[in-house]
Amino acid sequence: MTIRKKVTILGSGSAGLTAAIYAARADLEPLVVQGLQAGGQLTITSDVENFPGFPNGIQGPQLMEEMLKQAERFGTQFIYDNAESVELSQRPFVVRTSSNEILTDTLIICTGASAQLLGLDSESKLMGHGVSACATCDGFFFKDKAVYVVGGGDTAMEESIFLTSFASSVTIIHRRDSFRASKIMVERARSNPKIHWLLNTVVEEILDVSQGSVSGIRVRNVRTREVQDLPADGVFVAIGHQPNTELFVGQLDLDEAGYLITDGVKTKIAGVYAAGDVQDPLYRQAITAAGTGCMAAQEARWFLLAHEEAERESNSTQIPQAAAKHAH
Ligand SMILES: Cc1cc2nc3c(=O)[nH]c(=O)nc-3n(C[C@H](O)[C@H](O)[C@H](O)COP(=O)(O)OP(=O)(O)OC[C@H]3O[C@@H](n4cnc5c(N)ncnc54)[C@H](O)[C@@H]3O)c2cc1C
Repeated sequence: MTIRKKVTILGSGSAGLTAAIYAARADLEPLVVQGLQAGGQLTITSDVENFPGFPNGIQGPQLMEEMLKQAERFGTQFIYDNAESVELSQRPFVVRTSSNEILTDTLIICTGASAQLLGLDSESKLMGHGVSACATCDGFFFKDKAVYVVGGGDTAMEESIFLTSFASSVTIIHRRDSFRASKIMVERARSNPKIHWLLNTVVEEILDVSQGSVSGIRVRNVRTREVQDLPADGVFVAIGHQPNTELFVGQLDLDEAGYLITDGVKTKIAGVYAAGDVQDPLYRQAITAAGTGCMAAQEARWFLLAHEEAERESNSTQIPQAAAKHAH
């Protein structure tokens, strides 16, 4: 089916749904291509305590459900599918899903960045119940607890240092004894007395799924092959983020890590905007994603207004010419 739209939004996390709320309230009848993770990353966490307006916190899936209802209320249309390709070389831009072709005057890209995970069944089952992929978001829940951070890059070092403000001990687990992290970050972590190290070690399992919360971690030394179970209250997976930008390679500018490069929320193509984690390697929070989603919707509206105005002007100069032609 071919759909014609003024505003199409890719992604239904906090950036995409906020963009939808603003575009819908501006009467632009936006279309949201939700992607296969409807509601985005917050749907895999439990308590969200830092989103303004919820003094007692709110469950991640519930927050996203409320945002979706708010976008729906003002007339947003939703398609539960992934965008499979985009063509941005001319307007209207084209977005293809498995069963639709969308022609759109403006495009707001909010496809997010997926936290890379270890891929363990226990990790996904205990996500939000002692397992986290975001120290800024969840560190507060681990006051005086013993936590493990998995990873050897700058993010792992940064998150470990951050967690020492809350946790009683932080142990960095890394599969090698050398680090991808910058020397200065490793030194900073090394000089912190609360941080301990478990090197040449991989995580085999997070315990205990049957209890529904983290009680320990099963690790294997890659050199000695020794396996041991260690008590733990929390596990932070900090092995990187993968921005969801494969669709835009060769059409938009990406940085080395694959994030979309924007000026504010503008990409290098007029009428194409990017908001949220897909263009933000630094803050990666629901509120910043929502903020940039709002900015992108406003930019799209201004772009459409400017084009409508330009069209009206060119029509009004063309009509007298046409009339003059007929007069002779
Ligand atoms: C475990 C965890 C806990 C967190 N806790 C907090 C917290 O407490 N507070 C906080 O502020 N932040 C938290 N965050 C971070 C927060 O979730 C993100 O910053 C926020 O979700 C980013 O929103 P987004 O809309 O940019 O992207 P995302 O939420 O990543 O959403 C991306 C959307 O794009 C869609 N998509 C992807 N590819 C395509 C495609 N090809 N076509 C169409 N759609 C596509 C997906 O289906 C999804 O709907 C947490 C993150 C994690 C992983």
